[in-house]
Parts: sequence; structure tokens; C-alpha cells
Amino acid sequence: MKYISSCSFGKDSLSTVLIAIEHDEPIDEAVCCEVMFDEHISGEVPEHREFIYEQAKPYLEQHGIKVTIIRGERTFVSEFFHVVGKGKCAGKIWGWPLCSRCCIQRDCKSRPLDRYRRTLPADTIQYLGFATDEQDRLLRLGENKISLLEKYGIAEKDTFQICKRHGLLSPIYEFANRNGCFFCPNAKERELRHLYDYHPDLWARFLELQQAKNKCTELFNRDFRFDEIDAIFRLDDAQYSLFDKHKGDSA
Ligand code: SF4
Repeated sequence: MKYISSCSFGKDSLSTVLIAIEHDEPIDEAVCCEVMFDEHISGEVPEHREFIYEQAKPYLEQHGIKVTIIRGERTFVSEFFHVVGKGKCAGKIWGWPLCSRCCIQRDCKSRPLDRYRRTLPADTIQYLGFATDEQDRLLRLGENKISLLEKYGIAEKDTFQICKRHGLLSPIYEFANRNGCFFCPNAKERELRHLYDYHPDLWARFLELQQAKNKCTELFNRDFRFDEIDAIFRLDDAQYSLFDKHKGDSA
């Protein structure tokens, strides 16, 4: 029988693999789907991607676990420019993914993973990173799916420590509560600000995309267009520098 673990290398799914190692649970493979922004650029937050490839993947491999990273054919950009065939948006491009119904989750993540799982033996056991205090998710665990976090009584807050004791807590938690695509419409202000400050090349791509015509939705998230978010951060910066100037004048 084969045992695999779905692993985004966030704290919950990575803890699951680490708990399997600690408790000598059977595990053959960790499977991750890397969503892509376009053909060349990963959709992972760059610091998290580097963590996956430079630290976490080699660590698991050293412990005898095969790490499989799959990518779907579709990307954020190909979804963005997908022309809608029917309905009230027929003829328009999809544009930004919706907060509540993310097409990226469906087309760029779930489908490639499902396709990969269908290549595995039918009795493959899959570990999922659902913590013991995530009862709603645990109740939805289907056949051949197991939560090792539930088995060992591990709550979500405890997964930080598990990752830390292996030196494997993703740097993403320094500026985000969760790991998601860098273009996620559910990203909090702190995550967007991180992208604005440290990844201006990616930020510039978003500003270009905002200018695309005939989108189904102009809003990047529930409240703002992307250029409005950009304007807010620029204004914040301008106010800070004005404040600094005044401090300098009065010194
Ligand atoms: S992290 Fe956000 S953008 Fe990425 S698949 Fe999930 S909901 Fe969609």
C-alpha cells in the first residue's frame, strides 16, 4: 500500500509529514502542486518558494521521503485572459479571480492534483494536514484520507512548534497568517504590503494587468482595484516621508 501526504509546505501540511517522520508512520511521498503565475514565474510567494526548494524538499528527501512537485498547464495569467464563452460576461476576459470562488484553486491546483492522484494505486492512503481543532474539515475527510494531526491530538497552533523544532517554519509566517499564492484576492494588507516593498517586479505586473480591457471584474479583492491599492501604499509612503522631513526640520 502507498502512503502520500498532500503538502503545500505551509505549517499544517508540513507538520503532518514531520509527525509521520517522528512517529515512524508509513509515508512514501509528499505531493505539492506549485501554482504558476505565468509560464516562468511561480505563484508561490518568492520567500516561500525558496524555502520549499532550498530547505524543506532536501530535508524530506534526506529522510527518505520522495517529494513530487507538480504544475498544471494553466496559470494565473492564462486564467486572467481566458475569454468567457457564455452568460452575462460572454466575450469578456475573466480578469481577477474571485475571493469566494477562486478559479485558480479549481483549475491550477485541484485539477492537476486530482489528475496526479488518479495515477496512483486505488488504495493509496492520503494524509491531510487538518488539525484536531478543525472539526468541520475533519468531518469532510473521505475514504482513504487520514489526519495524523488528529491522530496525535495536535491543534493548529501547535504546528508552528513542530516545524520550528525541525528548523522548517516557512519565512512566510513573518508577514502572513497563511501561505497562499502571491496574487491571492484574500491576501491581507500586510501580505500585499510585503509584495509592494520587496517584489516590485511582481507588483508592476499586477499594475499592467489592471490596465487590461474588458475584464469581468475590475476589483482585485472585495473592496479595491489593484491601482487603488497601489495608490494607498504610495500615499502612506509619502505621508511617512513628510513626517520624517518634519522630524528632521525640528531636530
Ligand atoms: S491561495 Fe488564493 S489565489 Fe491561490 S488558489 Fe487559494 S484562494 Fe486562489
